[in-house]
Amino acid sequence: MGNPFDLSGRKAVVTGANTGIGQGIAVALARAGADVALVGRSTASDTQSLIEREGRKAIQIRADLSSIAPTGDVVAQAIDALGRIDILVNNAGIIRRADALDFSEEDWDAVVDTNLKVLFFLTQAVGRHMVGWASQSGERGKIVNIASMLTFQGGIRVPSYTASKSGVGGLTKLLANEWAAKGINVNAIAPGYIATNNTAALQADENRNRQIMERIPEGRWGDPADIGGAAVFLASRAADYVQGHILAVDGGWLAR
Ligand code: NDP
Repeated sequence: MGNPFDLSGRKAVVTGANTGIGQGIAVALARAGADVALVGRSTASDTQSLIEREGRKAIQIRADLSSIAPTGDVVAQAIDALGRIDILVNNAGIIRRADALDFSEEDWDAVVDTNLKVLFFLTQAVGRHMVGWASQSGERGKIVNIASMLTFQGGIRVPSYTASKSGVGGLTKLLANEWAAKGINVNAIAPGYIATNNTAALQADENRNRQIMERIPEGRWGDPADIGGAAVFLASRAADYVQGHILAVDGGWLAR
């Protein structure tokens, strides 16, 4: 049976792979043996060269995932370049901050569309493809959604983000229910505080940074590579019996 974490020969699509957590995941999947399609609005990042250095293939797909318009084309381009899609990591996401009393419809729609609506319809397009080859090959497709601590907690001043990430948790369970028997595992990762561009302002705020570090049992910010390890597990044969699970990778934040 070999190493159950080995992803050699597997073909992955990672959204938002140019930066932060998406880059950490894409590189980790490549180190485990996968070829990776990197999806984002820009193609200006070093993710591709980091993957090629691992001896794996990386292709870039430029797409704006703020609407569902490009989702079919993203799937077609990935299949064209890689042959098929075994693994989808839905990582692209945005956040907007304001009090609930002042929150605008624009900030609601922007976040919920990117983080939840597009995630669903991209997953639907990939799922239709996976169902076809999984039934023929006996290999399982793997979907990994990037959720958040705010899948479990309320947060503050981020109403559309909290709603979108709670939705990602619910959808992960629904899709696991519907697709387990079709040969697809659907799971999620809920990252804690991870040091990326997204959280740069929090890291730079001395007081908030200290409060956060004191509250994390591990006593440090997470690194994108910490999320990469969890993604490799959920994308691998080692997790064939893991379904509809939301794996917190948070240095113990939720345990507190
Ligand atoms: P980054 O801002 O570094 O990454 C977000 C990625 O999403 C970017 O690479 C961006 O790519 C992509 N993206 C955003 N909007 C679009 C769009 N319209 N179309 C295509 N791609 C898009 O932040 P993180 O790495 O921190 O966040 C990654 C994920 O992790 C998000 O879903 C976030 O909610 C989640 N998360 C992060 C936490 C943290 O502490 N950092 C904690 C919990 C969850 P490009 O600019 O190329 O389009």
